[in-house]
Amino acid sequence: MPSKVCPICGRETDVLIEGMCPSCYSERHRLISVEGPVKLLVCKSCLSAYQRGRWVRDWKQVARKAVQAAVKFNGSITGVEMDVMGNPLTTMSVRVRARGKIHESLGEVGEEAIVPLNVVLDLCPTCRYVYSEREAAVIQVRKLGRPIDGDLRTALESVIRITLAKSDEVQRGAIIDAKEVEGGIDIRLTNANIAKSIVMAIHRSFPSRVVETEKVVGVKDGKHIYKIIFSVRLINLRRNDEVLIDGAKYVVKDVRNNSVGLLDEKGNSVSMSFDKLIGRRVIMSNQ
Ligand SMILES: [Zn+2]
Ligand SMILES: [Zn+2]
Repeated sequence: MPSKVCPICGRETDVLIEGMCPSCYSERHRLISVEGPVKLLVCKSCLSAYQRGRWVRDWKQVARKAVQAAVKFNGSITGVEMDVMGNPLTTMSVRVRARGKIHESLGEVGEEAIVPLNVVLDLCPTCRYVYSEREAAVIQVRKLGRPIDGDLRTALESVIRITLAKSDEVQRGAIIDAKEVEGGIDIRLTNANIAKSIVMAIHRSFPSRVVETEKVVGVKDGKHIYKIIFSVRLINLRRNDEVLIDGAKYVVKDVRNNSVGLLDEKGNSVSMSFDKLIGRRVIMSNQ
């Protein structure tokens, strides 16, 4: 005879497990629980995956290990299966299936959880070396005015990501690396066309001035090998910024497409083109 009442669902029950009926208990306790997002660093060229200081060819194995480390099993488990779904270049997840008893007084059940993987694509050292040999372009992003802060960096990254997403597969993998250097960022690429697309997208999104130069880096079969260098100067000034331009004080009034509106010390409005500005020594004086 059922003699107890479950305080959660109000049903009569023979047994209470930790103060609730078996069905309420089962609903509230899972065999599988996942802690936090599971990150996976994968080489976009050879698909090796990074695991404890090593690059491992079998990315599926690394994915399973990573998920295993993030998954917690509760109760007594009698069997676990893991299947990797998708691939690092699109979307990837691991299906975890477990059998077991969530509580000793309950029967064995099966449970399934899909664990999405947060894949970060980069190059493993071996592929980076091969890519470096094929370096065809460098984008040198430099600031004029304010330093490149976290927000601007994030905005730049998103412009680059969108441009890459719109391009074909070969171009998408063309970035060798992006390094922070003094006053900016250097991005090396194996493909000059995608470099140009990225530069144009940056130029459209931020007040900037672009200068393109070709550099002969070698000779192959009697022909010069060129590397294209895109120098992108971001005009990173805001209204009311106080600046010293070649030693003279100005206040920024507005930043337009190709020029900056300034107020000189006498209160006169001056317009200075990006071209002109880039040739000057510009120092922020209110920071
Ligand atoms: Zn209940
Ligand atoms: Zn690789």
